[in-house]
Amino acid sequence: MPEGRDFYCSMTDLYANEVEGTNFTTEWYRHLRRYETGKNYNEENSIFIMAPHGGSIESGTTELTLATAGFTNGFNGQPTTSDTYDYFIFNGINPNKENGKLHVTASRYNDPVATALVKTSLISLSFHGCTDEQPNESTGIGYKACLIGGVDRLFKELLEAQLSGAGFNAYITNQNMLDGNLPKNIINKNKRQAGAQFELTTSFRASLHGINSRSKRRTTTNTDFWLFVNTIRESIEQYKIQLSI
Ligand SMILES: [Zn+2]
Repeated sequence: MPEGRDFYCSMTDLYANEVEGTNFTTEWYRHLRRYETGKNYNEENSIFIMAPHGGSIESGTTELTLATAGFTNGFNGQPTTSDTYDYFIFNGINPNKENGKLHVTASRYNDPVATALVKTSLISLSFHGCTDEQPNESTGIGYKACLIGGVDRLFKELLEAQLSGAGFNAYITNQNMLDGNLPKNIINKNKRQAGAQFELTTSFRASLHGINSRSKRRTTTNTDFWLFVNTIRESIEQYKIQLSI
């Protein structure tokens, strides 16, 4: 999350003033209701992954969302399992350093598609980016960390255990502005009124790619990228079992 106030007070405000295809793009996937039977629809729409500030706003969150949701066409790798989840991504596509204006905080994030998708889900997870120096625990530039927030306490505990067990510096945060604990935060608007979010430091996100640029990021993912993605996906599958989804 950027320091300072947002330029736009809502996504409605942003969409009225910015141009799709020039300043931003959005992409999403929603599993289809099967016309014949409706079978599996609820299960297939139970998981929602999101990058509200993707593209060059909080770089790397787009690629993490796509891979976690299981959509890795054009990537140099793929997850170890083939499940796919619903997702929504907003990409800032202005020149570098000119994308901060496109950040609308998650508690004012009223995009209608993202809102519809989260409302049909039972487990929701968003990817955000913060600077190396924003976490209270930071040791300065170069600090690699995955801060876990949201109000889904059991899911957060599972993610913390699994990700730290895999060797990542991942921990639950209660730090104001990074903890995603507002009920109005879009990720907490699922059917259980409880979601989870990551705040990933700049150095952490950069460490997942050989070349950390807009065009090369998804074709230079490294083993840490896939370990991170697969650990999250395994955590989601474990949580589905816990919730009997
Ligand atoms: Zn963010």
